[in-house]
Amino acid sequence: MPNEVLIIGGGFAGLAAGVALAEAGRVVRLLEQKPHLGGRARSFLDPATSSKVDNGQHIFMGCYHATIRFLSTIGTLDRIRFQQHLTVHFLERNGRLTVLRCPNLPSPWHVLLGVLRSGSFTFKEKLEILRLGGSLHWGKAMQHGQEGLSVREWLTRLGQSERLQRNFWDLLCIAALNEDPSVASAALFERVLRLALFTSPEDSRLGIPHVGLSELYVDAATAYIHLKGGRVECGQGVAGLLVSEGRCRGVRLSSGERIEAEGVLSAVPPFQLASLLPGELLRHEPFFAPVVSLRPAPIISINLWFDRPITNLDFVGLRGTTIQWLFNKGKILGAGENYVSLVLSGAHRHIARSKEELLAMALRELGELFPQAQQASLLHSLVIKERSATFSPTWEAEQLRPTARTPVRGFYLAGDWTATGLPATIESAVQSGYNAARAVLQNHS
Ligand SMILES: Cc1cc2nc3c(=O)[nH]c(=O)nc-3n(C[C@H](O)[C@H](O)[C@H](O)COP(=O)(O)OP(=O)(O)OC[C@H]3O[C@@H](n4cnc5c(N)ncnc54)[C@H](O)[C@@H]3O)c2cc1C
Repeated sequence: MPNEVLIIGGGFAGLAAGVALAEAGRVVRLLEQKPHLGGRARSFLDPATSSKVDNGQHIFMGCYHATIRFLSTIGTLDRIRFQQHLTVHFLERNGRLTVLRCPNLPSPWHVLLGVLRSGSFTFKEKLEILRLGGSLHWGKAMQHGQEGLSVREWLTRLGQSERLQRNFWDLLCIAALNEDPSVASAALFERVLRLALFTSPEDSRLGIPHVGLSELYVDAATAYIHLKGGRVECGQGVAGLLVSEGRCRGVRLSSGERIEAEGVLSAVPPFQLASLLPGELLRHEPFFAPVVSLRPAPIISINLWFDRPITNLDFVGLRGTTIQWLFNKGKILGAGENYVSLVLSGAHRHIARSKEELLAMALRELGELFPQAQQASLLHSLVIKERSATFSPTWEAEQLRPTARTPVRGFYLAGDWTATGLPATIESAVQSGYNAARAVLQNHS
């Protein structure tokens, strides 16, 4: 239909854009190549255990304002359980368990007091964190000319000791940016710290869905778009854009069918957009350069089912081990299973290892961390490798991220990798969907 807006891709970005456009009264047709929606944030039923398994554990934060608005619009926000206030447990290899619990005080006192009271840090480390936190809140933690530094270089210049970086900042950096601190952009990390830790106690809270990821948003967003007269179609791969005289006029499907539309909004990752763009644009239009320049960063999830519980904690950060976080999925989902999911982000050095090797490493480390794991029998395991979980957020990559408006009239970009100022996260994806929807509405009112 000529007045229709086509959306390519049914992840968070595409569905958020679809909901925003439908809300504004536009006719939406969303095309997803896979038989299911959800993209890099989806769940499925494991055939061996019938458990709901996510493609990887996803954490939300109180500062995910666009995501909270999106889930409120489609009526599923209550499927995320948000903490009352930021609380994170840390477990060391020797079995020592500590907690960082930030009280409900105005920012930055919630974090500063939380750090002061926590057994997770030595006295000297507390002073180091307070100094950094103070300059983030009251001063300029990032001096002019430091924007191009890596997280490692920046933290070292700010007097954060090697031990504190290894035991605390590295865990935060890899969890938030999915990249090693020696490579990740300090400017981006600083922005994340400000938004997540130094805005308000509400924004600092973590949220974990108590349903499978797909149940959180996929069906409800689809129902919303349908209700407003739009369509969501799976198994419809787009093979290319129809571009002539500097204007996008529709798409060509893998089946050969051509669909004309008033506007086309791509919500696919850069690695897949490359094959949709006409070669001419890819070669000669600098705007599209990031499509081939951004590099992927992997995440590995190791899902384990035991015959007995190995911990009572909901989740815990692990210090001194290869695996970084443990999520007690049986408890979180309330399904009564002894099912845990282990996360290994920024996993460049491990992605080529066999699943058997990764499993053996995980079981060895779990045995050291949790005495109960030594007695427990493993009933089932599932290792999931997401090779292109996010793009690698280096300083150079940050300079390349494109806006929602493109030089091609009628063609718009969304996706967690576009210029949102955030790392590749759900919040970035949803914000990008909203940005692209706004650009469509401004140009085609
Ligand atoms: C293991 C893992 C853990 C993560 N943990 C977190 C976390 O804790 N917190 C957080 O906020 N974020 C996390 N993320 C990041 C988050 O999942 C992504 O940022 C977000 O899902 C990206 O959404 P998107 O819509 O931009 O892209 P995608 O989800 O990749 O969606 C793109 C869609 O486009 C489709 N598509 C591609 N090409 C075509 C085509 N030619 N035609 C039609 N359709 C096409 C794809 O099939 C896909 O469904 C994690 C990611 C992974 C993989």
